[in-house]
Amino acid sequence: MIQKLEGLKTTLWTGLAVSLTYVFAMVSQPYWMAKISLIEQVVYGILLVGVLFTAQFSRSRYTLIIAMLGVYYAVNNGVLSGEQQLIAQQDWFFLSATFTLAFLTSVKDRGLFSIHGLWRILGICLCIALAKLWLMSEPYFIKTAISVGISQVHAKSLVVELPLFLVALFILYKSLRHPSLLVASLLTSLVLASLVFHQHVDIPLSALLSLLLVHYILVVVIDSYYLAYRDELTGIPSRRALNQYALSLGRKYCVAMLDVDHFKKFNDSYGHDIGDQVLKLVAAKIMKVSAGGRAFRYGGEEFTVVFPRRNLKEAEAALEEIRQLIADYKIIIRHPIRKDKKSRNNKRADTTRAVSVTISIGLAEKESALSFEQVVKSADEALYRAKRKGRNNVSQ
Ligand code: GH3
Ligand code: MG
Ligand code: MG
Repeated sequence: MIQKLEGLKTTLWTGLAVSLTYVFAMVSQPYWMAKISLIEQVVYGILLVGVLFTAQFSRSRYTLIIAMLGVYYAVNNGVLSGEQQLIAQQDWFFLSATFTLAFLTSVKDRGLFSIHGLWRILGICLCIALAKLWLMSEPYFIKTAISVGISQVHAKSLVVELPLFLVALFILYKSLRHPSLLVASLLTSLVLASLVFHQHVDIPLSALLSLLLVHYILVVVIDSYYLAYRDELTGIPSRRALNQYALSLGRKYCVAMLDVDHFKKFNDSYGHDIGDQVLKLVAAKIMKVSAGGRAFRYGGEEFTVVFPRRNLKEAEAALEEIRQLIADYKIIIRHPIRKDKKSRNNKRADTTRAVSVTISIGLAEKESALSFEQVVKSADEALYRAKRKGRNNVSQ
């Protein structure tokens, strides 16, 4: 029942957006190349804004990356010393960045000026040390690779390519597993870093960095919007979004209140976690509502659907479809068998079974003198009638 690749959409959209931006930057290069010296100066400003902005929004992983990018850029440009080492030790710098991205993918955003911040900085230092250790073991690695039949040239390139491949696979897995714009952006950062390292990038570092920083800032803005207006569990618009949306409604609309039947009993039988998963599935079904209905999670196991410019008949038909869709949907869950003495220590004491839930729906139409809150109240009263009629129906 648990959806395996919940982050597929986020990963694909991020990849597409970054690729298109990159292509656009390439195509428009003749226009902005004339102002490259200005861009080179502006990058420092964007770096500073990036550090402050991401720190303000508690995205400490970005803050750390941007700070490191700032140092890298300054060294690369000769503003800070160490340019020679940077050129001489390219493999080390690249692998350090690769390991750091893998490390930041595995940790959460926590306060920078706390013990967590210290751990993260220590973690990054470890990544840098690990990269050095790995490169120091290069002769042994090459010897082993040759002994299993790999040519010397390939063995030598594998020293960097193998860890890069493994880290890319790891971040890709993380990005596909759960939807996270931030992790998806770490994946695109790794791809860009890899392209720069392999000298496949034709645009100057300053322009590339500017694009990357704008990308990070956009992720923080979109993430913050989602945090405010999306329900965390189901990912659909939240009650706050409903209140905001209500302000934009005209004089004709219908409101439906939807409530999962006997959900308390469901939780008691299968546990709260499975209850949460079922709520996600129910929300996904409700989002499919036709007739231009906009769905929101009102709270708990209650949802609201607003039908702008629709009458009761049109809204009822769309709701009836949804009610039927949910009632017919067989949800496969892994249900733990009641533990007796024998199976208590047996982790395989699970069984799968198909369950289903039903929803009751109350529907009301906006009448001239009614406010949005009053229409919601009427829909709520209709929902109460639907429950009294035996549940799993649409009432007005
Ligand atoms: P009815 O058919 O009358 O609606 O019965 P009900 O049990 O669904 O109604 P009631 O309002 O008494 O209980 C709602 C239950 O929904 C209580 C709580 O256990 C469950 N619930 C509410 N929010 C969540 C949630 O976010 N996750 C889970 N798993 N359960 C929730
Ligand atoms: Mg309820
Ligand atoms: Mg209920």
